[in-house]
Amino acid sequence: MNKGIVIKSTGSWYTVKSETGDKVECKIKGNFRLKGIKSTNPIAVGDHVEFKFVEEETEGNTNIINGLITTIVERKNYIIRKSPNLSKQSHIIASNIDQAFLVVTINYPVTTTTFIDRFLVSAEAYRIPCTLVFNKIDRYNGEQNKHMEELIELYEKIGYRCLKTSTKTKVGMDTLKNWMQNKTNVFAGHSGVGKSTLINTVEPDLHLKTKEISDYHQTGKHTTTFSEMFELNFGGYIIDTPGIKGFGVLEMEKEEISHYFPEMFQLLEKCQYYNCTHTHEPGCEVKKHVNEGEIADSRYFSYLGLLDYDAKYRN
Ligand code: GDP
Ligand code: ZN
Repeated sequence: MNKGIVIKSTGSWYTVKSETGDKVECKIKGNFRLKGIKSTNPIAVGDHVEFKFVEEETEGNTNIINGLITTIVERKNYIIRKSPNLSKQSHIIASNIDQAFLVVTINYPVTTTTFIDRFLVSAEAYRIPCTLVFNKIDRYNGEQNKHMEELIELYEKIGYRCLKTSTKTKVGMDTLKNWMQNKTNVFAGHSGVGKSTLINTVEPDLHLKTKEISDYHQTGKHTTTFSEMFELNFGGYIIDTPGIKGFGVLEMEKEEISHYFPEMFQLLEKCQYYNCTHTHEPGCEVKKHVNEGEIADSRYFSYLGLLDYDAKYRN
């Protein structure tokens, strides 16, 4: 049996890069199903699969050799998007992601802490380690720099790796490349923060390819089925996630949300109630830490927002 990794998915065809480095166009067995996941696509980019070569008759004459995917290795993680039409179903965008880089800018455009925190919660829920990349530092004035340093301090304290970059002055570019090497990487962030430029700077050859795909996605039709990952010359992959800003917050129980705020989760067992939502409950350790300034107000604010906790209930 041949093993490989799915590097491109069109919905009906999958390009599998085999262990020997060949690219094989594969189909899947008609009855291919995965346990536990209600998804519109059984196989996604990033999947490790087993496949066998098959001969196919095309229009009665030529025998084209292709692959048939027979097995999928259990996924380490995956990111999904809810299908617009089929309510209970979701579309798997990619799997087996090693890390995400959330590219943020203080200005040009503004990235809010609410946006950052929502993304981090999704990344935690998906079990994808996330690095914050503060880009365009060449453009910041004193005040903006100060704001950035505060944010870096805030997020590093929680345990998130941060990096300052500029594609203009090339600050941080070697480190970024280093961190990406031999990993399967996803980039996210608002449009205009510099994702394409960053990627283009670490690997110039990639630019055209990603641009093409992104433009293709914007035409709409294939948005939900087409995805691809690109091999990096210096080792590793980058997953092209069409028009993705964040991952979209997964549906979760109210009691579960704070589990994805690491600085809150570690206090949970000290709260009086095991299912504390850190809002109205007495003996809440999280609220105590917020009041003492140990947990950032912006984080608690983001948390309440995710909880959909109406302002009128706040004390
Ligand atoms: P994307 O939408 O996130 O892919 O953003 P782009 O890569 O298209 O970049 C948006 C704009 O920001 C472009 O005009 C880039 O030249 C510019 N840009 C990207 N990185 C930097 C940077 O580090 N400094 C400055 N000053 N501009 C940047
Ligand atoms: Zn609590």
